[in-house]
Amino acid sequence: MNKKIIFIGSASRSGSTLLDMILGNDPNGFSLGEVYAHHLPWRDNHFNSICTCGDNECDIRKSLNTLRPSTLYSSIFESMKKSFIVDSSKVIFWILRGNRLAKKKGFDAINILIYKDPLSLAFSHFKRGEPIKISHYYDYYSQFFETEMPFISVNYNEFVNESPNSLKTICEYCDIPFFPKKINFWEAEQHHYFGSSSVRRTKRENNPKLRKSDVYPNEFIKLIPELEATFTANINLQKVLSKLKEHDVLNGYSKKPTAGKYKSYGRMYKSILWFKYKRFFPNKWEMKKSKL
Ligand SMILES: [Zn+2]
Repeated sequence: MNKKIIFIGSASRSGSTLLDMILGNDPNGFSLGEVYAHHLPWRDNHFNSICTCGDNECDIRKSLNTLRPSTLYSSIFESMKKSFIVDSSKVIFWILRGNRLAKKKGFDAINILIYKDPLSLAFSHFKRGEPIKISHYYDYYSQFFETEMPFISVNYNEFVNESPNSLKTICEYCDIPFFPKKINFWEAEQHHYFGSSSVRRTKRENNPKLRKSDVYPNEFIKLIPELEATFTANINLQKVLSKLKEHDVLNGYSKKPTAGKYKSYGRMYKSILWFKYKRFFPNKWEMKKSKL
């Protein structure tokens, strides 16, 4: 098997950390999480990353921290003898650089875009008391499409409802081993960077709480007709959704990626500058736990 990097992209609160930890649960796999934030810190907690293995003096993390992004993947393949890596950094220019680097070094790159049904995403924001930000959703995916990088998509709601069949389908596409206990990501030793704090907590507590489907409270149910009407009327959102559905591997999409000349996207340079600035003026991090 050729060495392979699986990049996971998504809008926020869409299940990228969960998919990363599940795919990386393999003796030959390595789950990196949102490693970009170690190199491009923009929140105060990014300056002091705690490894998911729970060891504050983790040697693996110490050695990874010293590597430059250009040697990170090669080093994991060579010194740790891994055959595939999962990187759920999400930031599009990071994925773009990663794809170009993979091409240069002869590694395979697979891009997976995980996405929630808009209503399910709205609920993820709602239950944390955050504003419902659907514009971030279509901005993210449409900017990704602009790069013309090949990708498959995975509907989060189908993924959690249909597991392990859906997991098997994703593994087959990626050509990585599938085994029934692969879903038990909390049993694997992983040295993951950042990502969803609730998934990390599940991992730490060894306490599987994979929620199959949300039970909406009355407060949210009242909002549904208005939300659905807004989603239907939003042409940008509908365009993005139809492309995501078309590329959905759980829907039968099976075209293999071909390496091409990928493009920069509209707001790429603005985004790079933003990260350069944030290193000196990072945001404060607060954990937003679900209230429900
Ligand atoms: Zn560790």
